[in-house]
Amino acid sequence: MTTRREFLKRSSALAVLPLIPAMNLEALAAGKVPMDDPAAKALRYVEDATTAKRADKMGVAAADQLCSNCRFYITAKAEGDFAPCLLFQNRLVAGPGWCAGWVPMA
Ligand code: SF4
Repeated sequence: MTTRREFLKRSSALAVLPLIPAMNLEALAAGKVPMDDPAAKALRYVEDATTAKRADKMGVAAADQLCSNCRFYITAKAEGDFAPCLLFQNRLVAGPGWCAGWVPMA
């Protein structure tokens, strides 16, 4: 049998859930791409594109290539400087970041 105190505790915890948007839960579950991740290393992912050795690609100057203007960056789900990246299984990457998989927006 649930005591009144237990009921109130559970109710107050559940009351907080609607305050967390669903997309935040998804992003939090995915987490940021760690810099030591094998895929991140293979694609030379960095959180600050200015530190990456880039080359012009598909008519876009190297300096203009950022995660935030990459086709795989899900801008609609951005939280601050981070958003899910399709190439990294929806894990979070930095908007000012870059990786070798960069492709311009369609
Ligand atoms: S695929 Fe695009 S958005 Fe994803 S890490 Fe590479 S440059 Fe950034």
